Amino acid sequence: MSKVAFKAESKKLLDMVINSIYSQREVFLRELISNASDAIDKIYYKALTDDSLSFNKDSYYIKVDPNKDTRTLKITDTGIGMTKEELEDNLGVIAKSGSHTFKTENEIKDGHDIIGQFGVGFYAAFMVADKVTVISKSIESDEAFKWESTGPDGYTITPAEKAQVGTEIILEIKENEEEENYDEFLEEYRLKQIIKKYSDFIRYPIKMDITESKLKEGSEDEYEDVTHEQTINTMVPIWKKNKSELTDEDYENFYNEKHYGYDKPLKHIHINVDGTIRYNAILYIPENAPHNYYTREFEKGLELYSNGVLIMDKCADLLPDYFSFVKGMVDSEDLSLNISREMLQHDRQLKLIAKNMNKKIKTQLQSILRDDREKYEKFYKSFGQQLKYGVYSDFGQNKDLLQDLLLFYSSKEKKLVTLDEYVSRMPEEQKFIYYATGESNERIEKLPQTELVADKGYEILFFTDEIDEFAIRMLMNYKEKEFKSVSSGDLGIEDDQKDATEEAQEENKDLFASMKEILSGKVKEVRASKRLKSHPVVLTADGEISIEMEKIINAMPDDQNIKAEKVLEINVNHEIFQALKKAQDQDKEKLNLYTNLLYNQALLIEGLPIEDPVDFTNDICKVMV
Ligand code: ADP
Repeated sequence: MSKVAFKAESKKLLDMVINSIYSQREVFLRELISNASDAIDKIYYKALTDDSLSFNKDSYYIKVDPNKDTRTLKITDTGIGMTKEELEDNLGVIAKSGSHTFKTENEIKDGHDIIGQFGVGFYAAFMVADKVTVISKSIESDEAFKWESTGPDGYTITPAEKAQVGTEIILEIKENEEEENYDEFLEEYRLKQIIKKYSDFIRYPIKMDITESKLKEGSEDEYEDVTHEQTINTMVPIWKKNKSELTDEDYENFYNEKHYGYDKPLKHIHINVDGTIRYNAILYIPENAPHNYYTREFEKGLELYSNGVLIMDKCADLLPDYFSFVKGMVDSEDLSLNISREMLQHDRQLKLIAKNMNKKIKTQLQSILRDDREKYEKFYKSFGQQLKYGVYSDFGQNKDLLQDLLLFYSSKEKKLVTLDEYVSRMPEEQKFIYYATGESNERIEKLPQTELVADKGYEILFFTDEIDEFAIRMLMNYKEKEFKSVSSGDLGIEDDQKDATEEAQEENKDLFASMKEILSGKVKEVRASKRLKSHPVVLTADGEISIEMEKIINAMPDDQNIKAEKVLEINVNHEIFQALKKAQDQDKEKLNLYTNLLYNQALLIEGLPIEDPVDFTNDICKVMV
């Protein structure tokens, strides 16, 4: 029989399929297996409406047969098969999908199980094969036909022998080229791997003859190769199973099998949604952050399946950054895929799914927080920072969603508390939610600026992560209570010393002015402190930028040279103040010395570097002698 050329557009398209649609060659097998599964589905649908047909699931399967000697890979199915006309129509015209027509003709509204739709997948075979032969016998016909093609130049169709209804596709695998390895598509282990990766949840068995080396019977050291047929795919996806049938262990096994992480997941979320949008998902909250979690290298995302067939390894659009730690998979029948099935055409459905999942993740986290505090703290240790980044980023648009998931260390409770817990404990007269920043809880505990607030008996939240203060500034308030740094200008605390301090400020105006001058531009002001009880000095900041924020911003690579407006506060009730006054009256050099010393001490307490450590130590010696 003479060769029939592909239609001109088809030729171009075939070229595209072979060279550019798919990013990975291995997907040819996914495409052929999906076609085989569609073909079996079609018999199933036919049997539903045709009484003369019966569908016994056990006699339907897909078989994958590599043969290294002949360099062929055969994919057999016991599906509906193709007549001569169908071979011509479906395989002779590229971009014609028999499966799509089948769905329309049979008015299968619920035909979302059938995977094919674009009519190009089959040709992916040419990515790995020089020649493709299809031998098919349709359920509608007594004759079988053979379709053969070596690629863009066309195909032939001739009569063939085939006893059983169904299709056999034989690929003559290409020879290895310099940088291209095709041999792998003849290797048992590799084929198994590809089937597991993309087609694990195809609903019919995908079988292979597997050869294993086993001890010979009766022998202790002689081995022999034993071949037997195995079903490679799991078939029923765990996410389609009933939740009540599944144990925690099943979910953990799935987490490990899928290599979502090497730890044990802290919690799983199994979602089955069957509404305007249909999807199933199994999500996990891991216990530990991956080593690269807080780096640019980390890629968020969930596995995305369409009808049990893997479409994307890491679909980033399914997760917002603040929940980027979530692992797992989503399967939906409602996705519009693009031609290579590697990308989505419209992301509307995806957005809906993502939104819906987002709510569920939040609810789950809230319930862990409520019911299992220890577990939540473990989670928070790994991923709390990410939630705080979430509050801060995108101009704070997610802050309402996230604020109740935050925890901070409390000065009074000596453990992590929620904002809600803090606010519910606030005495009536307390106006603000107080916080203090520093390197560690131990260091913050000793900070002079916490003295007045702590003395009042108010709880202070300790901020030890860099992001904390930025996140809180974004939040601004919680349940109408404003956040206030213990270092800020007005602490909003009624203090019986207040009048006395203001008086001292007024009386010693000149002293403070001379001290400011001595510090030549390093501080905006020197003033009498309203917050100190026993410590002599403290450095605080007026305005929006706190000293802690200045440190963080200036540690960033694109140094923006943002400075806090620093204020040196002096405790006028401390003995040192008398010494300062005396020096002001009698010994200007001493005032100079004391001022520099106090300023440097304040820097040290704040964890800021001293500009000239040698000068500082010399100054100390001067005091000693
Ligand atoms: P799609 O699967 O997207 O429809 P393909 O190019 O993979 O596109 O296949 C084209 C058509 O060929 C299918 O729609 C189907 O009608 C037919 N076909 C392919 N493989 C088989 C098979 N194994 N059994 C029966 N029909 C098949």
